[in-house]
Amino acid sequence: MLKQSIKTIKGIGSKKAEFFASLGVYSLLDLMSLYPFRYEDLSSPSMISDIENEEEAVFLARVLSFESSRSYNGKNILRVNLSDDYSKMQAIFVNSPYIQKLLIKDEIYWFHGKCSVYGKYKSVFHPEFLLYSDKPEGMGIKPVYPLNKDLKQKDIKNALASCENLFDLIEENLPEKIIDKFDLIKKSEAMYAMHFPSSMENVEKARYRLKFEEIYLQQKEIFEKRKLEREKKRKNFYTDVNSEEIFSIYDFELTESQKKTVEDIRCDLKSDAIMKRLIFGDVGSGKTVIAISAAYMALKSSYQTCIMAPTEVLATQHYEEFKKYLSKEAKICLLVASVKEKDRLIKEIAAGRYDIIVGTHALIQENVSFKKLSIIVTDEEHRFGVKQRHSLQNKALDGADTLSMSATPIPRTLSMIYYGNLDISYLVDMPKGRKKIITKFVDGRENKKKLLKFIYDKIKEGEQAYFLAPRIEDDEEKNKSSVEKMVKYFREIFPDFSISYLYGKMNSAEKERRMEAFKKGEISILISTTVIEVGINVPNATIILISGIENFGLSQLHQLRGRVGRGEKQSYCFLTTNKKSPNLMNRVKAMERYNSGFDIAEMDLKMRGPGEILGDKQHGFKLFKLIDYLEDHDLIMKVHKIFLNNED
Ligand code: ADP
Ligand code: MG
Repeated sequence: MLKQSIKTIKGIGSKKAEFFASLGVYSLLDLMSLYPFRYEDLSSPSMISDIENEEEAVFLARVLSFESSRSYNGKNILRVNLSDDYSKMQAIFVNSPYIQKLLIKDEIYWFHGKCSVYGKYKSVFHPEFLLYSDKPEGMGIKPVYPLNKDLKQKDIKNALASCENLFDLIEENLPEKIIDKFDLIKKSEAMYAMHFPSSMENVEKARYRLKFEEIYLQQKEIFEKRKLEREKKRKNFYTDVNSEEIFSIYDFELTESQKKTVEDIRCDLKSDAIMKRLIFGDVGSGKTVIAISAAYMALKSSYQTCIMAPTEVLATQHYEEFKKYLSKEAKICLLVASVKEKDRLIKEIAAGRYDIIVGTHALIQENVSFKKLSIIVTDEEHRFGVKQRHSLQNKALDGADTLSMSATPIPRTLSMIYYGNLDISYLVDMPKGRKKIITKFVDGRENKKKLLKFIYDKIKEGEQAYFLAPRIEDDEEKNKSSVEKMVKYFREIFPDFSISYLYGKMNSAEKERRMEAFKKGEISILISTTVIEVGINVPNATIILISGIENFGLSQLHQLRGRVGRGEKQSYCFLTTNKKSPNLMNRVKAMERYNSGFDIAEMDLKMRGPGEILGDKQHGFKLFKLIDYLEDHDLIMKVHKIFLNNED
C-alpha cells in the first residue's frame, strides 16, 4: 500500500509527480519519509516590540490598512499596515498587488518572515501569512519542508494530509527489546509526529527515535560484516614471540601505545581469525616500530612481510629503518621503480630470498610475486585505493594478515561508523622527550623580519628547516617557478647557508638525492611544494615555514607540521599568507592551539564536515538523513556500544 505511487493522491498528476520525483519522492512512503528541515513554533509568537533587526520572526497581527505606490523604476509596492495592539509594523510586497485581495482588513493573521528594524520603524518583507481563525486550535508547530522551485509548502502539506491515516501501516523496524530499553517511540508514531507534531517536545522525541534507528541499522550492518570477517579462519600459523623479545630489538623504550599495539598484533596472530587491523597514530607517534615488530613476528615463523608506502622517499626511509633494527636476522630488500637490477630482484623475491620486502606501488606490478607472504603492511593507507590493496593481497598466501597504518586520525565518531568492522589500535602518546611544537602565525613586515633573524640564528646553531613554497593549484610549471622564486630569494638573504629544493615533477632519483643530502645535514634549508611528504623523518629539522597556508586544509597543515618535532630539540612551525579570511584564521587558531592530530581531526570535522575528511568514503554519508556527526556523537556512541556489548 505505502509503495503505491504518489499519483494515487488526489491532485497529483504526472506533472506534479515529476516535481516530487526531483525531491526523491515517488511512493507514498517516500512522501511520508520526506522530513521537514525545520519547524516554526507558532505556539510562541513574538510581540512586534520584541522583534529585532534581521530576525526571522513569527508574530500575530491585525491588518489595519493598505498603501499602494510605484517605485522609481515602475514596480508596484504594496505596504500593509499591521498592529498587535501594542506596536505597529509594515508588511511590504513588491509587484504582488493580488495580496491586497488575500489579506482581509481587520482580520488577525500569523505572519512569518525576515524583519527589518530602523529605529522605531519595523517592516517584514514578503511574509508568509495564515488567517488566525484558519487554525482553530490556535497555536501549533508548523513543519517547513525542503522545496524545489516547482513545489510549494502547501503542495507537500496537502499531499501529506491525504496520507494522514496511513501512518499506522508503517512497519516497526527496531526490536521490541531495544524500543523498551531506550524508551523510544514507535516508528509509525515518530513519522507521524514529524509531519503532524503536537509540540516541539513531540518533534524532539520523534527525531530522536528516527536518528536512533538510522545509526542502529547502520551499525547492525557493520557488525554483521565484522562477524563475517571474524569467521574467516586463520590459515597461516605463527609461533608465539615473547613481547619482551620484540621490545628489546629497539634502542629506545617503546611508548605505552606502541607496546599495547604490539600486544594487539601478537593476540591477532594467535587468534584463529585473520588479522585486519588499522593503526591510527599521529605523525611522529612511531608507527614504523609497529610495522617492524609485526615483520619480526612473521620472520620468526619463516613468513615474508611486505610494506607498501605511497612514495619512494618513504619506502626508502622505511627500508633504512628496517635495516637498522633487523639486518642481523632478516634479509631485507627495497623494491621501487628506480631500483637497479629490478628483474633480478623480482626473481629473488619470488624465490623467497627476502624476508622483508619494502616498496611502493612497484610491489603490485604484475610480474611481482612472493613465496610466503603472510603479513601485508600498508603505510598511509588512505593514499592507496581498494584495488591496489586487493592486488597485493592476491599475491600473498591465502588468508594473509593485514595491517594498515594511517597518520590521519579520523574523529572517533567517524571511525565507529566507518571502521566499526575493523580492529583499531590508536597510538595516542608520543615518544619520550618530544616537545610540543610551537606554532605561530606571522604577519606584517616587522614580524617577518624578526622571523628571518630567528631562523638564521637557529640554522647557525646547526638546525635545519623546511620552507614550503605557495602551491599554485595543480599547475606543475607554476609550482616549479614558485619554488624557484623562493630559492632565489633565500639564497640572496641567507648566502652562507646551503639551500636546496624539490618540486613535484623533478625526477625521483634527483629528489631522492636531495632528500638524502638533507637527511645527512649537508643541506640546511629544503624548499619545496608538498613533496616533503607525510612520513619524512629528519629529527634535526626543527623549523617548518609554511607560506600560502590558504592552499591547505587543517589536517594537511597538521601533517606538514609533523615534519618537525621529531627529535628532542624544540621545534617551530610558522604560518604565513597573503590571503587572510575568517575561515583561514580559524584554521590558524586551531593550529596554534592544538598539537594532537586527534584534536585537529575533530576541529576539521567541525569546520569542513565529514565528506571532505573521508574523501572517497563519503558516499556512505547519504545513508543518513537526520544524523549529524557532531551533534549526535553521544547517540552514535550509545548505539555502537549496544553492538560491542553483544559481541562474544
Ligand atoms: P610515524 O608514526 O610518523 O610514522 P616514525 O615511525 O617515522 O613515525 O617515527 C618517528 C621517529 O621516532 C623515528 O625516528 C623513530 O625511530 C622514533 N621513535 C619511534 N618510537 C620511539 C620511541 N618509543 N622512543 C623514541 N623514539 C622513537
Ligand atoms: Mg610513518
